[in-house]
Amino acid sequence: MPLTEDSGSKVLYPVRESEALPVTKRQSSRERAGAYIDSPLMTHRVHYRGQLAARIQGNYGIYYTQVCQVARGIESECSCPSDVRPCKHVRALRATWKENPESFSSFRTF
Ligand SMILES: [Zn+2]
Repeated sequence: MPLTEDSGSKVLYPVRESEALPVTKRQSSRERAGAYIDSPLMTHRVHYRGQLAARIQGNYGIYYTQVCQVARGIESECSCPSDVRPCKHVRALRATWKENPESFSSFRTF
């Protein structure tokens, strides 16, 4: 169904950049990773020197997920069998770090 173009309407509130992303894009990425973001399924959350790690209770078992910030971007690892890289666990881990960094144990030295 085509959307009706209403040229008379004005945007009443300024839209923040994160909210201005196309809705479909946000939803599809949220949909798959969303169940794990800051959820009780994600345990053993650890932050250490730019690395994030967590244990995730997935559909077929427990996966160990790691994200590492490197000079050229992000490297990630996950023990799940998904062919999609980065998988939803990696995305969920990064999203959880953004949404609730306090939930991660932080190790500065071993
Ligand atoms: Zn995974």
